[in-house]
Amino acid sequence: MKTRTIAILGATGSIGTQALDIVRRYPEQFRADCLTAHGSAEKLFELCREFRPRFAALVNEPREIPGDLRGIEWFFGADSTVRALLAARCQDALCAIVGIAGLDAVWHALDVCERVLLANKEALVTGGDLVMKKAANLGKPMLPVDSEHSAIFQCLQARQGNPLKRLLLTCSGGALRNWKKADMYAATVRDVLAHPTWNMGGKITVDCATMVNKGLEVIEAHHLFAMPAEKIDVVIHPQSVIHSMIEFEDGTVLAQLGMPDMRGPIGYAMGFPNRLPYDAKPLDFAALGHLDFAAPDHDRFPCLGMAIRALKAGGSAPVVLNGANEVAVGAFLKEHIPFGRIAEVIDRTLQSVPVSPIASIADVYEADSQARAFAAESIKF
Ligand code: NAD
Ligand code: MG
Repeated sequence: MKTRTIAILGATGSIGTQALDIVRRYPEQFRADCLTAHGSAEKLFELCREFRPRFAALVNEPREIPGDLRGIEWFFGADSTVRALLAARCQDALCAIVGIAGLDAVWHALDVCERVLLANKEALVTGGDLVMKKAANLGKPMLPVDSEHSAIFQCLQARQGNPLKRLLLTCSGGALRNWKKADMYAATVRDVLAHPTWNMGGKITVDCATMVNKGLEVIEAHHLFAMPAEKIDVVIHPQSVIHSMIEFEDGTVLAQLGMPDMRGPIGYAMGFPNRLPYDAKPLDFAALGHLDFAAPDHDRFPCLGMAIRALKAGGSAPVVLNGANEVAVGAFLKEHIPFGRIAEVIDRTLQSVPVSPIASIADVYEADSQARAFAAESIKF
């Protein structure tokens, strides 16, 4: 089997390290030739020792590069990820940076890589129309890594050209799913980071607790699968065993199931169309006993509705939602604002920053900085 080269952008994160676990299991299939990270230099050095990439990048330049790693071509600074990506010209790019900070990498990966494996949902939330158009024009596949979108993509393999009635995104409900509304406002960082079914990076774990994550995923699904907002539904499913579903016009629903482990969707994107077995826990239906479902509670989780309304409003609205959320989540994680303020900051920002058309990536960044400035200001009060 021919080895594929892969750039792992955000290599030190939750998705990045799990992708490297797949590389570790299939050394004859993948060569991780480019590893990038933001600031965790020591962690990246360790990964470089193990995987021996030819290219590596750190946004924060470390004081020195250890002697045994000086044979690697290093890039530093805010644009280091993109420069490393362009130099490495790997066949695949796994885009696993968190936030709109990963948009540039997705954009440039489409130029130089054969396939983009997308975990960085914020790149589609903010630049979705432009990114999908570019991918289509260049004929480059965008393979979803987000578990819900991977599930839908897997179900779509059985579509055979039939029209879809709707997509059904499942949602664990996040750490606060059983909390009373009155208690949620003051939930602490510790409360929120205790996700019931998935072990993920800090930002997405907070996004799950506000349920803005599911809203971002509705927007992501809209772009990946060209489905209007009206045909994407969300269902609460606390066990996270059904990863998502598609429904056909005859009422048939196809679902993809498995124990929650991101190496499933990561490996599916990396190996597509081949599956890459790992030490997945088998699904034991008898032990599970039952699977539960409920409608989302928009009263306790207003961010889901805000995201769906932003998608329907179009233009820069999803960019504004995302920018306000990134600022508010960052402030919450630093304990500058209570949990309940996240939704308020997003709501006020969406109501105050006017919607503008998005015709270029520059327009995306303009709307993002307007949203960030407003959100940062509103946090002060
Ligand atoms: P994480 O915080 O664990 O890791 C983020 C990675 O990106 C790190 O390697 C970090 O160094 C790097 N990074 C952060 N900011 C950067 C910047 N400004 N420039 C360059 N690199 C930067 O995040 P994660 O949980 O792995 O999530 C990554 C992406 O995947 C997010 O968009 C998230 O929504 C999505 N996702 C994650 C999961 C999961 O299980 N963790 C599931 C589905 C989707
Ligand atoms: Mg998801």
